[in-house]
Amino acid sequence: MTTLLHCGDAARGDLWRAVLPDLVPGLTVRHWPDLGDPSDIEYVAAWTLPPGLAAGLPNLRMVASIGAGVDQLELATIPPHVAVVRLIEPDLVRGMVEYAVMATLMLQRDMLGYRDDQQARRWSPRRRVAAADRRVGVMGLGAIGTAVLDGLAPFGFALSGWSRSAKTIDGVATWHGADQITAFARDVDILICALPLTDETRGILAKPLFDVLPAGAGVINVGRGGHLVQDDLLAALATGQIGGAILDVTTPEPLPGDSALWHHPAVVLTPHIASDTVPAAAARAMAEAILAIQRGGVPAGQIDRTIGY
Ligand code: NDP
Repeated sequence: MTTLLHCGDAARGDLWRAVLPDLVPGLTVRHWPDLGDPSDIEYVAAWTLPPGLAAGLPNLRMVASIGAGVDQLELATIPPHVAVVRLIEPDLVRGMVEYAVMATLMLQRDMLGYRDDQQARRWSPRRRVAAADRRVGVMGLGAIGTAVLDGLAPFGFALSGWSRSAKTIDGVATWHGADQITAFARDVDILICALPLTDETRGILAKPLFDVLPAGAGVINVGRGGHLVQDDLLAALATGQIGGAILDVTTPEPLPGDSALWHHPAVVLTPHIASDTVPAAAARAMAEAILAIQRGGVPAGQIDRTIGY
């Protein structure tokens, strides 16, 4: 019996049990902790894996993250022959574009400053900087980063992007690799992090990068909290090297009540809501991944386990 084990939200598990067998003929869906016979389970979908689960499933072929990233999965606990897949889902990408565009425009139009003015009952108009005179740089040119650049293009910003491997994108100055991060960052007024969290990218939003940005630059993090060194951000905000930050993700989540970020006038915080997965769309993406594996192919979101994304 070909079985998918769903771990996590029970309502999503019920929905998947109802819809997935129509999309993948012959598939049974079980909901953790109802394992049944472990040897039936070929696919697991989870945000985080129950400890020891993957190693105890002899016929496991795929672990799918219920999300666009896999950093929350402990890859070392998943046997090497098992495919690890992340969710690629258009609705999720659309949510990320909305958030990144909103955050960019907030920084572009100095909404953090005007929020402060309002609280102080201060009527203090400032001259608008044209979008064409503002340089927006996106770190990570994958499904999300490239869609964010597409979303920003109509406003007329000067756009650039940075990735691991070389990319060519119409209307975007592109840079790649650790060697080119300085060249990328020195011309970025608003920096958007849309990177996956890996050993190479952890802590990348830190003093060395902040020091390269033009003074007063804005930072938007929609990647993962682990990308940001919070103390370095607070120090850069204190000197004005960073002018404002919009953070959708933090470490840890939830952010502790005593964090200085909560009340910082130049920081906007949201609780990891830039986007979310729509259960029905996620079920379709999951079905496509399972069908790809059954055909002997590679699912769209399969990660390269050697680089961690
Ligand atoms: P992709 O895997 O499609 O793209 C990742 C991009 O990052 C690629 O362009 C890749 O380069 C680049 N990259 C990876 N490592 C490095 C590195 N060391 N140096 C430079 N560039 C690097 O991922 P997605 O676009 O789908 O998602 C990105 C991240 O967004 C997710 O991993 C997740 O952390 C975050 N996210 C956050 C959400 C939220 O609600 N806040 C929701 C969804 C996702 P290359 O192209 O050369 O491979």
